[in-house]
Amino acid sequence: MVILKKLKETQKELQDLRAALNEHAIVAVTDSHGNIIQINEKFCQISKYSKKELLGKTHRIINSGYHPRAFFEKLWQTISSGKVWKGEICNRAKDGELYWVATTIYPIIGIQGTPLQYIAIRTDITQRKQSERKAKKMAFYDPLTNLPNRRLLKDRLHQAILNQSKGRGGCAVLLLDLDNFKETNDSLGHNIGDDLLRLIADRLIHSVRATDTVARLGGDEFIILLENLDTDLELAGQQTMKFAEKIRSALAAGFFLSGRHVISSASIGVAPFNMETPINEVLKQADIAMYQAKSLGRDQVCLFRPVMLAEVEAQAQRMVDLRRASHCDEFKLFYQPIVSSTGTIQGYEALMRWQNPSLGMISPADFIPLLEQSGLIVVVGRRVLKKALKKLALWGQNPKTQHLTLSVNISPIQFANDKFVSSVEADLEATGAPANQLFLELTENTFHRNTKQLIERMNRLKRLGIRFSLDDFGTGYSSLSYLKSLPLDTLKIDRSFIKPIMTDSKSAAITQTILTLAQTLNISTVAEGVETVEQADFLRASGCDALQGYLFGKPQPIESFPPADYQLNE
Ligand code: C2E
Ligand code: CA
Ligand code: CA
Repeated sequence: MVILKKLKETQKELQDLRAALNEHAIVAVTDSHGNIIQINEKFCQISKYSKKELLGKTHRIINSGYHPRAFFEKLWQTISSGKVWKGEICNRAKDGELYWVATTIYPIIGIQGTPLQYIAIRTDITQRKQSERKAKKMAFYDPLTNLPNRRLLKDRLHQAILNQSKGRGGCAVLLLDLDNFKETNDSLGHNIGDDLLRLIADRLIHSVRATDTVARLGGDEFIILLENLDTDLELAGQQTMKFAEKIRSALAAGFFLSGRHVISSASIGVAPFNMETPINEVLKQADIAMYQAKSLGRDQVCLFRPVMLAEVEAQAQRMVDLRRASHCDEFKLFYQPIVSSTGTIQGYEALMRWQNPSLGMISPADFIPLLEQSGLIVVVGRRVLKKALKKLALWGQNPKTQHLTLSVNISPIQFANDKFVSSVEADLEATGAPANQLFLELTENTFHRNTKQLIERMNRLKRLGIRFSLDDFGTGYSSLSYLKSLPLDTLKIDRSFIKPIMTDSKSAAITQTILTLAQTLNISTVAEGVETVEQADFLRASGCDALQGYLFGKPQPIESFPPADYQLNE
């Protein structure tokens, strides 16, 4: 009785365990050959096969083809030797859908010591696998355009080099950087900016072959990786240049966005490469070529040449030197006289020079663009202004020089800096220089952006007594409209109009028109680059208020004072 009771209890326990297992897992039992002899409901649910369809079959019926043959060979090896196998398997249901199961296969060993049956217990892990795949996609793809990102691109570059080593032709990358994307983004809004990036991605995808890769590096930079080109780098470069032109015209057609036709060109750098090129170099070379395309005026294609690398390295070295120069204050000021129509020096323009310890005196045209690119101009420009103000303060103490004005060039980047006004105020205060003898020279490109805010900035400085000159007048795009809107005191007519004034009647006529216009607007005039007496006479006769140029003096250091009045030698 007791034994029977015990047996019943054990049987009940087993039934309970089995029910729990069936509730939790997908269960199948096979014979020693792998033929299915028992399955539970969950197996049928997930595989979408009926019990009838499955019994007597092997697991091959749900093979998805995902795993290589070797995977199952190893599995069989393990279980047929009596060991438990654990792993993750991708199966295919009857309707073709794939599902993933975490699987444990337990061999039941007979008295001979060999497996008689196998019990496979599985749990559905499809969801986990899907989220893993999603995470992987996020790690390798750009979410905005769905294009491969930088990481995946690097993989593809490695792969391309591997393919090359298997004799599959040459490769090249094209680096595209959209021109003025920031402006489009700012003016049309970020949503439209995003749409534009998606449309561009789409157009690029449709311009390449299926074997090529289009990736987004981030921001407004895209990369195209071309394979199966000529193995000769020179020829591969030529092929890619042709292709790049095709891309350029594909973009030139423009895009329709929210009912608007948006133009978005790109500057394209092309770098062919082979097995010997380190991967990081490939992208660097494309980058250098792209910058070259930008500096050629954008919407251009440039092929990387090794000389470009040398130039970039030289420029990087100059940048290092410039940082040191700014730290050690190697910048000096030279002064060029500005002479009134009666022949007296009314003031000076301060012009920067770089006293390079090994290269000697360097002209600002060679280093100011670098200072601007690096933002160093803000610090260096402030120091220049302070030096100029000290000089002005000194002149103010001497009755012979206190009438002199001093003009200081201000870079657009410097003027755009929010702290500009307060720094000028502080430096005026610290040096005690008379603000009403100071001219700030601005060029037209200062006003391409935030014009209203900059005019307000000018007015704040004007209230301190400072005056403004518009420098290089006539070389910008919208000279005339600036004359109307900016609170200017002086116009400096660019040297390019003055130089041919005696030989080219058009330049003479333009200069005279500018002079008349300025007079009407109550703006005084300075002619730049006056080199001959004839030019000076012509300008004075045409009503120009002041002249500046080699005729009256080259820029020079002024250590001692007072300067003599300039007398025209008539
Ligand atoms: P800019 O403001 O137009 O300065 C006039 C330039 O013309 C000076 O060149 C001057 O040396 C040159 N020049 C003057 N008279 C004649 C002439 O009769 N014939 C010829 N051929 N040239 C003449 P520089 O000193 O090389 O300066 C070049 C430019 O660098 C300046 O053009 C200005 O835009 C910029 N720059 C100079 N100093 C500074 C500075 O302190 N800050 C900023 N932001 N820019 C500066
Ligand atoms: Ca100037
Ligand atoms: Ca000028």
